[in-house]
Amino acid sequence: MAAKRKPSPRRGARAGGLRNLYRRWRSRSSALSDTLWAEALRTSAYARVLPPDDRARLRELTAQVLRAKFFEGAAGFKVTEPVRARIALHAAVPILHLGLDYYADWSSIVIYPGDFRVHDEYMDEHGVVHREIMDLCGQSMSQGPIVLSWEAMREEDETPGDHDLVIHECAHKLDLLNGDANGFPPLHPDMDTRAWARDFHAAYRQLCTEPDAPGAGHIDPYAGEDPAEFFAVMSETFFTNPHLVYGIHPTVYKQLQRFYRQDPRQVMKPA
Ligand SMILES: [Zn+2]
Repeated sequence: MAAKRKPSPRRGARAGGLRNLYRRWRSRSSALSDTLWAEALRTSAYARVLPPDDRARLRELTAQVLRAKFFEGAAGFKVTEPVRARIALHAAVPILHLGLDYYADWSSIVIYPGDFRVHDEYMDEHGVVHREIMDLCGQSMSQGPIVLSWEAMREEDETPGDHDLVIHECAHKLDLLNGDANGFPPLHPDMDTRAWARDFHAAYRQLCTEPDAPGAGHIDPYAGEDPAEFFAVMSETFFTNPHLVYGIHPTVYKQLQRFYRQDPRQVMKPA
């Protein structure tokens, strides 16, 4: 649903005409038909089992994401309506009870057909600059778009598991809301920041030092990369296999439950 705004009488007819044309184009390009919605819903086991009121809320939020974000294809990738709807639905899941304002800091989603190559440069603690070339399937730029590989998303849809690339990258965006990506997003006033730090630090340490602990092998080892990746991987697993997160790191599960204001364990059956 496009927001209805009162046109400014001071603007000339030409500007108003262009604006209306643009609004009509945005509104048409962000339509979420029953068919598109049903197709997108098939790609999210969590969204499919949400109670009807939450599912209706997710559909409205998915339409809002479609209206608010620009979807751009890269390296020849053609962004179709089903691709946009699929990505928007997954992006809407983490903010189902947070709202679209949590994504106000960024505006674009760039989609490559497959993995994409990035050139990274960073300085270590000795002041030595390192240059790396990496092939990635997803990236969240701190001052820019989310970048995604369509091939990675297609694989998730063909072989559903614990991965959700879009949720992973959106979790990084939430983490970045209060500065660096460090696994510490802005918590709600009723949350205890020290308890968050304690629970995440303990779970991250356990993952790094006890990789053979029961169940730990099921968590994507990429979670051990750094605290930011730990938060992103835990977030995607929270929405794809909540029983796994709860079984291994119940305190982290409860923190995520408070932060996202959702409890996927209550609606999803154990995998
Ligand atoms: Zn990541």
